[in-house]
Amino acid sequence: MGTVFEVGAALLGACIGSFLNVVIWRLQQPNPRQRSLGGRSHCPHCGALVRWFHNVPVLAWLALRGKAACCKQPIALRYPLVELLTAALFFALAAWPPHGPVFVTTANGATLDSAAAGAFGLLSVFVALLVALSFIDLDTYLLPDVLTKPGIAVGLLAGLWPGVAGVITDDASTPPALRSVLASVLGMCAGGGATWAIRAVGSWVFRREAMGFGDVKLMAMIGAFLGWQSALLTMFLGCIFGAVLGGLGSLLGRGTVIPFGPYLALGAIVTLFARAPIVTLLFTTWPQWQRTHASAQWLLAAMAFVALGLLFVLVRRGRR
Ligand SMILES: [Zn+2]
Repeated sequence: MGTVFEVGAALLGACIGSFLNVVIWRLQQPNPRQRSLGGRSHCPHCGALVRWFHNVPVLAWLALRGKAACCKQPIALRYPLVELLTAALFFALAAWPPHGPVFVTTANGATLDSAAAGAFGLLSVFVALLVALSFIDLDTYLLPDVLTKPGIAVGLLAGLWPGVAGVITDDASTPPALRSVLASVLGMCAGGGATWAIRAVGSWVFRREAMGFGDVKLMAMIGAFLGWQSALLTMFLGCIFGAVLGGLGSLLGRGTVIPFGPYLALGAIVTLFARAPIVTLLFTTWPQWQRTHASAQWLLAAMAFVALGLLFVLVRRGRR
């Protein structure tokens, strides 16, 4: 049962990815009439209606060898890659569920765990939003409100579902639903607030806008879904990924303006699947290693110095 569910989740992810391609493309159109998400899809080159079987994720792109059926214009490799990425994320949610397996195999066969199934549904909405927002940010350096604001609302609703955002206190006399909703609200404030503070300090220090207000709303959404601890860990990882990957891209001469959204989204995905080992590494393994190795503090100071310098160069080189 487990395998069937994992394969099904991957197939669903591929179809959602195909829809996300439409979302990513249409939200960038200057004409509001083209921005609607309803209706059948048209070829972006010649406007011809796309036949239904040419919308089949990944396979249609392979069968057509990356060329539109109507006008033979090339279809970017990015379309099947977005579908594959979404399929992989949905598969990961099914195969390594952060909130327990959806199907539990017992002697009487497989039974559905409704709490885990709800968490799976909410988290699939979350990763789909992250994929769409990342690619729109890469293209336009914008994180549209039309995705982040409903994302915050869904994240707060997800708080009603016990376990997704965690709980704010283990006090058993408070109803579990209230503890979980409070965790989600606190996550929204911590995520949005930390980003807003960094934005304010960065703008003041560097005398130019560091991070957009879209990043604040994105982090509020991530916090509403995952709770405050995960929001802060996401912010931390997002800054590391941004400094390392953005620094590499900058050294390779790939543009000077760095969208921060994709790094935050990557941080959120890593946090979603690997929060426990990262927390152990940061707060248990590392301090222990530091106590037994006296020179560790110099290594840490050197790393912090390099990171700060890199961040300074990056912010100087261009922001939204
Ligand atoms: Zn065409």
